[in-house]
Amino acid sequence: TTTRMPMPTSAWPRLPGRVPLALKRKGLRVLVTGGAGFVGSHLVDRLLSRPEVTSVIVVDNFFTGQKSNVAHHVASGDPRFELIRHDVVEPILLEVDQIYHLACPASPVHYKFNPVKTIKTNVVGTLNMLGLAKRVGARFLLTSTSEVYGDPLQHPQVETYWGNVNPIGVRSCYDEGKRTAETLTMDYHRGANLEVRIARIFNTYGPRMCIDDGRVVSNFVAQALRKEPLTVYGDGKQTRSFQYVSDLVEGLIKLMEGEHVGPFNLGNPGEFTMLELAKVVQDVIDPNARIEFRPNTADDPHKRKPDITRAKDLLGWEPKVPLAKGLPLMVNDFRSRIFGDQIKPDA
Ligand code: NAD
Ligand code: UDP
Ligand code: UDP
Repeated sequence: TTTRMPMPTSAWPRLPGRVPLALKRKGLRVLVTGGAGFVGSHLVDRLLSRPEVTSVIVVDNFFTGQKSNVAHHVASGDPRFELIRHDVVEPILLEVDQIYHLACPASPVHYKFNPVKTIKTNVVGTLNMLGLAKRVGARFLLTSTSEVYGDPLQHPQVETYWGNVNPIGVRSCYDEGKRTAETLTMDYHRGANLEVRIARIFNTYGPRMCIDDGRVVSNFVAQALRKEPLTVYGDGKQTRSFQYVSDLVEGLIKLMEGEHVGPFNLGNPGEFTMLELAKVVQDVIDPNARIEFRPNTADDPHKRKPDITRAKDLLGWEPKVPLAKGLPLMVNDFRSRIFGDQIKPDA
């Protein structure tokens, strides 16, 4: 009997046009950092609804995010979904085609809780995700913020405005952190030829917001449902522009898939004073809700409203959901999370 020798690899049959399975392009593989958070989890839902997406990896340290925000993808057994507990301040090796980098606490109460950690997340965390993007040649999208404009002296804010930011204030860990993250993103773009996208997100609300994160929409909605007074800080004449989360998710995907680096303002130009917002919450939830004035926090921006001309022209994007339509969409979610199975007090 003769011993069978292993066939040399050069002699492997080569079928015309056939690529070994492992080398076949694996569809679109997407990493969402901070994907267990409010915006991230809605983005993950939307990505998994796209047939060309073959893998969505969420990396999250659960500081402000919740497993419950993405648990439905585990429960449904979708093999394309993967959840990794990981802090972006530490390096990680993954193979993906696109990175949506959202990991960072967004509410002032959360980002001020441990300001040094917020800076590390914005700077070291962003550096690591850019390093990862460079290693695997992925396209990288940074979720920056309207806070890079600080307490703006231009109104509404256009992307070309450089902002009015206090570098040593209590909000600096976040706004200066995001400004550095933008700088890093552009330096990897110019220096390493990385494909990057920058979104400057304006105040966004919707289901799955943390109930007690201290942001004005979540506070007012929870307060009205609990029959507590709506806490208006300062004189309530400061303004914000509120964007419903589905509009933002659409904008992020258009930005990622488009050809333009940005930065792009993504926000709803409808501008409200905090007193006007309280009135909308009264109209939607409880006309008898009382208003209570509280001292304002330090460095609170007086006005904020996006100029979205650039996103309209170059991305063909604009928000569709006005506040009066979007607010009721988060009330049911808040009601069931606040009261659980209990009967509503006034039911
Ligand atoms: P969020 O707090 O709900 O989500 C942030 C997620 O990042 C959470 O799941 C949190 O656990 C995770 N995270 C935080 N630090 C991390 C770390 N070091 N490593 C890994 N994961 C970490 O906030 P959000 O409202 O969903 O915001 C998402 C992104 O959008 C943030 O980058 C935020 O700065 C930006 N943004 C949001 C708004 C808004 O109004 N929601 C406005 C401007 C910018
Ligand atoms: N990095 C990472 N995952 C990778 C590649 C890089 O977390 O797949 C981290 C790496 O540890 C480094 C950062 O990203 O801290 C920047 O990487 P880069 O290669 O750009 O810079 P260098 O390692 O040369 O400082
Ligand atoms: N605010 C308020 N009542 C609250 C919480 C916030 O009047 O219970 C005000 C706050 O002073 C700020 C605005 O609402 O002027 C928006 O605050 P938020 O924390 O939601 O977001 P910011 O835009 O400041 O990051």
